[in-house]
Amino acid sequence: MLAQAPLPVFAVPTTAHVRVDGLNKWFGALHVLKDIDLTIRAGARIVVCGPSGSGKSTLIRCINGLEPFQKGTIQLDGIAMGRNTRDTAMACRLTGMVFQSFNLFPHLTVLANCTLALRRVLLKPAREAEEIAMQHLTAVRIPEKAQAYPAQLSGGQQQRVAIARALCLNPRIMLFDEPTSALDPEMIKEVLDVMIALAKTGMTMVCVTHEMGFAREIADEIVFMDDGRIIERASSETFFSAAAHPRARLFLDTIL
Ligand code: ADP
Ligand code: MG
Repeated sequence: MLAQAPLPVFAVPTTAHVRVDGLNKWFGALHVLKDIDLTIRAGARIVVCGPSGSGKSTLIRCINGLEPFQKGTIQLDGIAMGRNTRDTAMACRLTGMVFQSFNLFPHLTVLANCTLALRRVLLKPAREAEEIAMQHLTAVRIPEKAQAYPAQLSGGQQQRVAIARALCLNPRIMLFDEPTSALDPEMIKEVLDVMIALAKTGMTMVCVTHEMGFAREIADEIVFMDDGRIIERASSETFFSAAAHPRARLFLDTIL
C-alpha cells in the first residue's frame, strides 16, 4: 500500500557536507575509532555496515555531537565540532538523528514530540511549529496519529514519527543508526519506504543498516567498518559484486 502512495514532499537544502579527518576515539582504555577519514558530499547516501562493536554507532554519534572524541577533526558545512561549545551546537543543529529505539518522549503526543524542539530550540510560535510538524507527519504518512501517544503506535509508526521529528529542524544531514533493527519484519518496509523517499529528494544521508536491499537501492557508497577502522569504501555495485577485503566478503556471506 505504501509503495503506491505519492512520494512525500520534503524541502531539502543541498549544500551539506561532512568531513572527518584522522578521527580517533577512546572509551577509557578502549580504542574504538582509529584514524577515520570520511568525506561526504552534499546529497550523498552512505550506508555504513560492519560487525557489531566495530564502531558504527560511535562514529555517527561523534558526527552528531553526541560523543566527544580525543583526536582528529569533524567538520559539518565547514564548522568544526568540538572546538568550542558554540560551534559544536551550530554543527549539531545541521544533523538529524534517528535511533534504533525510536526515543520518542512517551508522555508527549506525536505532535508535541515533533513541535518540542521547534518551540524550545528554534523559538517558533506554537501555530507555526504545529504547521511544520504536520507537514512532516504528512510526509511520513502518519498525520492522523498527531494526537496519539507513542505507546498507542506500532514500532514502525513510532519510527516514522521519529524521522518526522528529526526533519522538523530542517537538518542538512540525516543520520540513521539501525533504524529498522528493533522492528518486526512487517514494519521494516514502511520505514525503509520513507527513507527511500527521503533519499530521492536529495537529502544527505548516512545510514547504519544491515538492510542490504535498501543499501543496493539507495546507497551511492558503502562504508565497511571493522574493529574501529573503515576497511573498505566502495560503490554499492562494487561492494556487493566484488568487495575487496576478505572481512567484508565474509560479512556479506553471513548476512546475505
Ligand atoms: P557498533 O555500533 O558497530 O556495534 P559501537 O560504536 O556501539 O559499535 O561500539 C564500538 C565499541 O565501543 C564496542 O566495543 C563497544 O562495546 C564500545 N562502547 C560503545 N559505547 C560505549 C560506552 N558508552 N562506554 C564504553 N564503551 C562503549
Ligand atoms: Mg551500533
